[in-house]
Amino acid sequence: MEEEILEILQSEVEFQCKCVLIAAGLLSEQFAPGTADEDFDAEIVWFALQSVLIASANLSKLFWGSRGKKEAERLDLRLSLSVADDSPLRDPDLRNDFEHFDTRVEDWFRDSESHNFAGRNIGRLSAITGIDVKDRFQWFDDSTGIVTFWTHSVALPLVLAEVQRIHPLARDAVRGPAPPPISQMRCGTCGNLTPQCTCLDSQGQPIRWE
Ligand SMILES: [Zn+2]
Repeated sequence: MEEEILEILQSEVEFQCKCVLIAAGLLSEQFAPGTADEDFDAEIVWFALQSVLIASANLSKLFWGSRGKKEAERLDLRLSLSVADDSPLRDPDLRNDFEHFDTRVEDWFRDSESHNFAGRNIGRLSAITGIDVKDRFQWFDDSTGIVTFWTHSVALPLVLAEVQRIHPLARDAVRGPAPPPISQMRCGTCGNLTPQCTCLDSQGQPIRWE
């Protein structure tokens, strides 16, 4: 891969990781400890989940291309950020379901016998019984962090852990490693670590390293 393309894609990875992390923060605020069980705003929850899914789908496209079609071409990008082929970012099923909700509903209406639509539920998946999986659309189980659509599930904790791992790697790849703290840098004149430096500035005052 051309170095310039690699750098631009790494930069986009950094941004999409940040989007996932912002959305995950918004989501966890809704279920913060001490908050009553039903005390979340369902629209904010689904907004945050949608943001996580879109940004992680964008990461999947960056690493493997749309529907995995750029797997070979993007190897350098994956290697540069230590992304393995079994990364939880790879699976596109659930995000496709969310993205193609419109046609999923039309197919369901044609095929479902009960027409017992259950969509955008929040709560324990095990709490619901007697609903056919094909009638069960978007579901978020906040006790496990698992998002489900029909029979497809994604465990958000796995996705988030992967994004938290990749984000600093992408940042370092784009900007270079963060500089060490001032106390671990050496004075250019005496060569001592800055806390031990006794050099004087042009006014004859001790240099203040800060
Ligand atoms: Zn010095």
